Amino acid sequence: MARWRWLLADQLGPHFLDDDTHRVLLVETRALFARRRLHRQKAHLILSALRHRAAELGDRARLVRADTFREALTALGAPVEMVHPPSRAALAFARTVDGLDVLPPRGFVTDRADFAAWADRRRGRLRMTDFYRYALDRYDLRAHLPPPTRRPPRRTPVDVPPPPAIVEDDIDAQVRRDLDRWQAEGIRFVGRDGPRRYPATHAEARARLVHFLEHRLPGYAETDGRLGDRTGRNGDSLLSSSFNLGLLDPAPAIRAALHAGRNGAAPAAGVHRFVRGLFGWREFLWQLYWYFEPRFRGAGWLAANQPLPEWFDRLDADAVDARCLADALAGVRDTGWVDRTTRLTVLGNYGLQRGWRPAELADWFRRSFVDGTDWVMNATVIGMSQYADLARIDTHPWAFDGTHLDRIGDHCGGCRYVPKEALGDPACPYTAGFEAFLHRNRERLAADPRLAAELAERADPARRDAVLAQEERRGATAP
Ligand SMILES: Cc1cc2nc3c(=O)[nH]c(=O)nc-3n(C[C@H](O)[C@H](O)[C@H](O)COP(=O)(O)OP(=O)(O)OC[C@H]3O[C@@H](n4cnc5c(N)ncnc54)[C@H](O)[C@@H]3O)c2cc1C
Repeated sequence: MARWRWLLADQLGPHFLDDDTHRVLLVETRALFARRRLHRQKAHLILSALRHRAAELGDRARLVRADTFREALTALGAPVEMVHPPSRAALAFARTVDGLDVLPPRGFVTDRADFAAWADRRRGRLRMTDFYRYALDRYDLRAHLPPPTRRPPRRTPVDVPPPPAIVEDDIDAQVRRDLDRWQAEGIRFVGRDGPRRYPATHAEARARLVHFLEHRLPGYAETDGRLGDRTGRNGDSLLSSSFNLGLLDPAPAIRAALHAGRNGAAPAAGVHRFVRGLFGWREFLWQLYWYFEPRFRGAGWLAANQPLPEWFDRLDADAVDARCLADALAGVRDTGWVDRTTRLTVLGNYGLQRGWRPAELADWFRRSFVDGTDWVMNATVIGMSQYADLARIDTHPWAFDGTHLDRIGDHCGGCRYVPKEALGDPACPYTAGFEAFLHRNRERLAADPRLAAELAERADPARRDAVLAQEERRGATAP
């Protein structure tokens, strides 16, 4: 008889089992939800996905409800194996359990040892573009990519059909009742509850992928790099939670996109963007997480020791006048998701400008997004967005003023702040914040050509003092 296979909540697709003989252990620990203030819709998605997997597997699965993983394993009392977990904490725990076999990772395409050899050869200069170029050849994908084309970004959201709605079932109804009860008993969540928006089963996720490839991929590249609106009407695939819960295996998804490109069913630019995201970025971040030592975070590079303000932490979009930030927070509050450009240039940029503690912001992203996961955080939030990793994975801080946000989005039109202004009542919080950020970090930023030039333009001492004093006064209040 095969050993029990313990599946974590990020390992719920068919590719985490080898055949029909596995007996499967699934563990639901309420303590996990009690420890961290998760987005309510994220908590719903995780519980729903676990319970749907247990229901799919029927007699083969045992869903154990326990306070801790150790308690669940003890209750099972049988030899167990698991696929390599996706976090250092879970791996460290697995190593403390006698007789627990850890199998190689699944749900990623690239190989750990191969990445480590590549990264060692680069001697610390690790850039996604270099890795992507290398990996396309190493994994024999380059020849399958359609010849690249350039398409100018559009100004308005592409009119793509929305993904098919999720139909909730009895399992979701039970999850909602349980979460209501937990909440009444004192477990705290952030964000609003709402209809389940993201797949909880492999079948739902596959249907989303197929729909994306057929109907959304054609407009996919057109808004790359543009701020979306809060409904996700920027043409993004909305598949990240499905990949991160392990419902979808990236390798066949990449093959399917390449196939659509080869057949002329999807434009080359869209195929390139999808493969670059799923094969380039996703694999790169996963490998970096394991390549770097555990203490990656908060290297103290820039002045960054401010706590996250309450209104931001609680996703209080109604407290915010600045339209881009209010829409971004409302998007997170109402759906647990916003597009990458909004994460970087609106949310992350705001925190970077104000010197928020990188580790706290990373924790906020992890808890508040349905796709939030530990292995993405080090590189995306700590490294890229907050530039707090000693520039190991990025060449420059992603700091921008309001005029940049005006160029890439449609929020400034109806906003009470003026993108060009850094001083006085109409001063855009991003433009004033950018200027104050430059002055506070001027020594560190001197080596960055773009930011050094921006700093030189704002060298006047009287103006500098006025901006810094104004931003000091504004402090942590919602803009
Ligand atoms: C500050 C910040 C925080 C982020 N936090 C997360 C996170 O917690 N979890 C997460 O999965 N992604 C995170 N990302 C990356 C990216 O924003 C999301 O993967 C993407 O927005 C998810 O939406 P989508 O599925 O529509 O992606 P699409 O843009 O349609 O991309 C397709 C798929 O490619 C992968 N992908 C694309 N870009 C990236 C990227 N930069 N990093 C990793 N995978 C990528 C995802 O699996 C995604 O589903 C973060 C980015 C930033 C700047």
